[in-house]
Amino acid sequence: MALIKLCPNCTQRNGAEERECVKCGTSLAMTEPLDAPALSAPKLSLNHRALYVPLQTEIIIGRADRDTGWYPDIDLTQYGASSKNGVSRRHVRLIWNGEWQIEDLGSLNGTYLNQRRLKPSEPLPLLPGSVIQIGKLFLTYHG
Ligand SMILES: [Zn+2]
Repeated sequence: MALIKLCPNCTQRNGAEERECVKCGTSLAMTEPLDAPALSAPKLSLNHRALYVPLQTEIIIGRADRDTGWYPDIDLTQYGASSKNGVSRRHVRLIWNGEWQIEDLGSLNGTYLNQRRLKPSEPLPLLPGSVIQIGKLFLTYHG
């Protein structure tokens, strides 16, 4: 467990020592710290192989664009992601708010969670066993 302060404005998870929200700047002076599960990287697999996932509170999944120097946190290029098979450069992101949530970033072909298309900018919680479809690639979330 870890002590955190949840921003009353944007729900960003801040360290208990923060005086204002690191994301939106709202004062946290009146916000009581609370005990929350410590951040751990989400476990994801693709084709039954574990994906490397960095330990951070926002993880962007997509495909690299060498021309502009864009590299998402999880680059699906090596798994065959391309514009042809429906993977956008900034396709979807995972957000930590004490639990992992998934949010489509307005991708061209959309993201499907358990075969349901996500509405852009409307995060949904991930549950162990959730299947995330990004273009023609299928990722499994293991918790
Ligand atoms: Zn905030």
